Amino acid sequence: MARLTDKKGYICDMDGVIYHGERLVEGAAEFVDWLKQEGKKFLFLTNSSAKSPVELKRKLSRMGIEVGADDFYTSAQATASFLAGQNPNAGVYVIGESGLINALYDAGFYNDSVDPTYVIVGESRTYNFEQVELAVHLVLKGARLIGTNSDLTGPTERGIAPACRALIAPIELATGRKAYFIGKPNPLIMRHAIKKIGCRREETLIIGDRMDTDIIAGIESEIETALVLSGITAREDLSLFAYQPDHVLDKAVDIIDHPGDK
Ligand SMILES: [Mg+2]
Repeated sequence: MARLTDKKGYICDMDGVIYHGERLVEGAAEFVDWLKQEGKKFLFLTNSSAKSPVELKRKLSRMGIEVGADDFYTSAQATASFLAGQNPNAGVYVIGESGLINALYDAGFYNDSVDPTYVIVGESRTYNFEQVELAVHLVLKGARLIGTNSDLTGPTERGIAPACRALIAPIELATGRKAYFIGKPNPLIMRHAIKKIGCRREETLIIGDRMDTDIIAGIESEIETALVLSGITAREDLSLFAYQPDHVLDKAVDIIDHPGDK
């Protein structure tokens, strides 16, 4: 097996791999420096829809890591791209934050809280009953229900917070409709990511801290996977899953010195 450093492209999750909330994971800056020095292609792929690529770039810059806004791809961008292929220039009702709203506007969608084609839900810290009630009415009127990602929870400094799937559940329950989710592990976002970095699947490594999103997305897209233990998954959790990553590392920077065998 080729060494992990021989890959041309690296698709890297962010939370639990590069940072935890506002704290940098040990060695993350060194790893990103290595990617840049070696001229590797890389993409930070996140299921979070809250922040735009420019906001993510600024967040990493504050932590001392300098990359371009184009080095990020979010579930919000993937959602906008998917919907633009399905139904361009449609009206949308959005429960979410600036990252999602900007991605949809950039793709030509417009806000419509009367008769939208889609109701789209992402992460939101201002989620409230009126939004859920309106979303239920709109879905019952025929709007299609879309979730940016199927994460139930996400990490915060205070512990865990309900994420997209938990926020969309009341709308599903009240309408009897099932949402369609775009982010990891949907192979769609992996195809977008591969296209964006311009590498073939076999030239690429996916690095993530979650078995049920990052690792399964890699496996189902036939991309080599490296699980890092710097995030949500502990080594003893691995036995709970029927599928396994190709590599298990303490943290992303260990890729630089990893021999590449299982
Ligand atoms: Mg993560």
